Amino acid sequence: MNIILLGPPGAGKGTQSQRLVDRHGLKQLSTGDMLRAAVKAGTPVGLQAKAVMEAGQLVSDEIVSALIGDELDAMGEGQGAIFDGYPRTTPQAHALDAILAERGRRLDHVIELDVDEDALVERITGRFTCGACGKGYHDQFERPAVDGTCDRCGGHEFKRRPDDNEQTVRTRLAEYRAKTQPILPIYDARGIVAHIDGMADMDHVTAAIEAIIA
Ligand code: AMP
Repeated sequence: MNIILLGPPGAGKGTQSQRLVDRHGLKQLSTGDMLRAAVKAGTPVGLQAKAVMEAGQLVSDEIVSALIGDELDAMGEGQGAIFDGYPRTTPQAHALDAILAERGRRLDHVIELDVDEDALVERITGRFTCGACGKGYHDQFERPAVDGTCDRCGGHEFKRRPDDNEQTVRTRLAEYRAKTQPILPIYDARGIVAHIDGMADMDHVTAAIEAIIA
């Protein structure tokens, strides 16, 4: 099974992908995570991507499609993939078709999480994670039980993504509207698109996704 999870930043793609990984043994292919790892490691791709990401703009199609191809090559043939944050442009959508066809794979579902933009800005600008174990928190919706201490590992260092500030988030949302939403008709024509209310609580969203892929 190969699935694309589409939705603007903060729609919950990462959380839902993680749940699909846990329940179905799929592999999450998040170009955002791959790029952040490249930035952290200081690779040539990371050096090229850093400023673009901090501005909330899109990294080049060639770079992200190459990352996706490499990750698929490293997977077992029988393992399904969840594409999280990819494709984000029409050229990426076409590249993905070619990448999948070359590997004897096909897309089963494209699931778009529909969300309210103002609520998203609040969601994204409030989020932070434990620097040690990666557990996610939120200033308003999910604070640690003891301020400054991670519920899961007891760590005291927390971090925020540099692109989770309001101005960058607005740019990322505009990029989504201008460049990513226009790829939906490609998949609509194949009859594989489903829409889910991404503002519902996380368990409802998970249940809706499960119903689609069942
Ligand atoms: P994300 O974690 O998916 O929100 O991605 C964070 C940032 O990484 C984006 O704002 C872009 O700068 C870059 N990025 C991630 N995925 C892609 C992609 N498929 N195409 C272009 N840029 C991407």
